Amino acid sequence: MKPVIALVGRPNVGKSTLFNRMTKSRDAIVADFAGLTRDRHYGDGRLGDREFIVIDTGGFEPDSSTGIVKEMAKQTRQAVAEADAVIFVLDVRTGLAGQDQDIGRYLRQCNKRVFVAVNKAEGMSDSPLLAEFHELGMGEPHPVSAAHGQGIRSLLEAVLDSF
Ligand code: GDP
Ligand code: MG
Repeated sequence: MKPVIALVGRPNVGKSTLFNRMTKSRDAIVADFAGLTRDRHYGDGRLGDREFIVIDTGGFEPDSSTGIVKEMAKQTRQAVAEADAVIFVLDVRTGLAGQDQDIGRYLRQCNKRVFVAVNKAEGMSDSPLLAEFHELGMGEPHPVSAAHGQGIRSLLEAVLDSF
């Protein structure tokens, strides 16, 4: 059975960019997999001979009307429930935001394996800016650049090695 990995994080941190990077296809339509809804936010990924399914939780358009947070929470809960592991995506350029803390609090009580990916960290593999993400207490932050393809393999190895 392929492990299912959910990408979770507040809007604009780079989840969809990471999804595209992990699936190597913009419109991977997937999930020939019992129990998962067929949806363009599910993608097939592979690292060497290891295959996985990835879920992008950014399926709503930000809107000035109400209900954004509620919709995001619903989609996130659903993805997390279906997942074997979660990649919690954060943005090194904005630092740890209040909304990140809220998501972190939620994830801590979900009893799923969580991997912290600090995105937009191109060229920052040992930047002091990464230190504050330790505060989440969710393990070693993995610096990645979804846009530039940096750190992705190492992140995926950590996730897949945990199974
Ligand atoms: P989502 O809302 O979490 O799905 O975020 P998106 O994937 O839509 O990305 C939000 C913005 O961040 C876009 O403008 C991306 O081009 C940008 N972005 C994503 N990944 C990176 C990255 O690794 N480095 C930089 N500098 N920008 C990125
Ligand atoms: Mg998105």
